[in-house]
Amino acid sequence: MNNMIDTLINNTAGSSGGLKIITLSGTETVTKNMTLYEYNDTIIAIDCGVDFPDNDMLGVNVVIPDFTYLRDNRHKFKALIITHGHEDHIGAIPFLMEEFDVPIYAGKLVQGFIREKLGDKQFKPLLDKLRFHEFSPSTAEVKIGAFSLSAFRVNHSVPEATGISINTPEGRILHMADYKIDWTPVIDKPIDLGRIASYGESGVLCLLSDCLGVTHEGRSKSEATLNDTFVDLFDKYESRQILVTTISSNISRMYQIISAAAKIGKKVVFSGRSIKQNTDVAKKLGYLPFDESIFVDDKIANEYDQKSLVYIIAGCYGQEDSALGKVSRNENRYIQLEEDAAVIFSADPNPPGVDIAVDRMMAQLTTIGAEVIYSGIQDNLHVSGHGTRDDLMTIAAVVKPRYYLPIGGTITKMKAYSRMVESLGVSKDRVLEPTEGDCILFERGTARMGTKLEVKQVYIGGQGAMASQIDPILLKDRDQMCTDGVFVVLVPVSRKNNQIFADKIDIVTRGFIYVKESREFMDRSRKFITKTINKHQSKGLDWGSLRRKIENDVDKYIRKEEGRTPMVIVHSISV
Ligand SMILES: [Zn+2]
Repeated sequence: MNNMIDTLINNTAGSSGGLKIITLSGTETVTKNMTLYEYNDTIIAIDCGVDFPDNDMLGVNVVIPDFTYLRDNRHKFKALIITHGHEDHIGAIPFLMEEFDVPIYAGKLVQGFIREKLGDKQFKPLLDKLRFHEFSPSTAEVKIGAFSLSAFRVNHSVPEATGISINTPEGRILHMADYKIDWTPVIDKPIDLGRIASYGESGVLCLLSDCLGVTHEGRSKSEATLNDTFVDLFDKYESRQILVTTISSNISRMYQIISAAAKIGKKVVFSGRSIKQNTDVAKKLGYLPFDESIFVDDKIANEYDQKSLVYIIAGCYGQEDSALGKVSRNENRYIQLEEDAAVIFSADPNPPGVDIAVDRMMAQLTTIGAEVIYSGIQDNLHVSGHGTRDDLMTIAAVVKPRYYLPIGGTITKMKAYSRMVESLGVSKDRVLEPTEGDCILFERGTARMGTKLEVKQVYIGGQGAMASQIDPILLKDRDQMCTDGVFVVLVPVSRKNNQIFADKIDIVTRGFIYVKESREFMDRSRKFITKTINKHQSKGLDWGSLRRKIENDVDKYIRKEEGRTPMVIVHSISV
């Protein structure tokens, strides 16, 4: 096999600087996927997703990849290619399109999802700028610079998921982001293993493979496993109001839910903006081929007997501002939860980073009388879209690339994937484990690490038209204020001659101490600050330098006295 790759490489490699694969993001984390491929004067990007903020990222809505390298090489950036329609693969496209004017190669469903996303008020002007090229397993090979690209079918938890074959002068790369092997998918066709095997036979230089499910033994479960679940549950709760929450892009899950509702004779209500948008797109493309009479608009759903309805509602990850979040607080304009309602969670039972929010929402729903049905108490409510060990092993063995590069997992999953392929007899030096910003250089069939890019976290805060980038320093400030509060020193300064009245300062605190019970500390602090101002003032410093000195000293003083670090702000007031 390696001889075949050598022949391929020797026949095609020119006198270029080689092929670069830059893992901009999406190797250390499961989300925020974006990989760059560069050859001579062409850069293409695969996927452009968001990450969701941790609890300590106050006021941050999403985290997006760092586009600095693309900015610096703007003239080379020729196209964006999308593997599938999940937020962690397409969510940052609006932010990319605000800065770059590149065509997007994607399947019809992904195009629909992106259009809906850009339909939001803030991004509407970008809609005219969009240049889509249909790119799917049934479209012809696309040439972009030195790259020839084709898509092939894989299975995942959203229809039309694809792997990408990138033929380069250095050899063929297979980019297989999120995938599993499903021989009985609900509305898709099974993975095109034949085509993947034929790529393997003709020689693959590097396989970029999903590695998230590598620590789960065995074969992954098919979506079809859930076919009977909803019929059984809807039958069991036939005389009750039913709400099912799932991820808004999981169209095949919705197909199963709607089919079950139709079978039991219930109507379906979509609730939540993302669910409505995505199901609209899916309906237009024929993925939800049901008679329109089965659907009820959520605005008039309360006119119906609630026992005749199944709501498919957004909020399976415990999002407070989701439709289900509002239901759980009795704040949803259109849906009032009935006393004995059944709320079914059909989503990842251990979503990374949001399990506390999900628990909180389930508790709220239970408190107001609902029966919550989730994976912990009910089998077959969810199957993962990520291949487990046997799936990943099958692809690794069939493709037999010269190099393996695990993506879309954590460092731990990446290591586990490396050990898995090593068990196939692959030597350690053939498994690449790049972290964010790493650049791998392929020259004449050999890979080596190039210069690592400095990539930073790019935080986006605010909603809709107000969404904008948040400086990491702001996050540090917010964290500090949240933990230990604020300590403000107001220093009177004469308007006439800039004289500072050090003995007339005022102190205001919020979230730091209960002032009424800390008079002694406040008096001591006042004396300390007066002394500090006098000490530094005698050095003839300007106000800016003096302010910083006082802030520094007060910070140290409070740390010593109280063992805490509130944000200290010294402010002058003209008198
Ligand atoms: Zn995905």
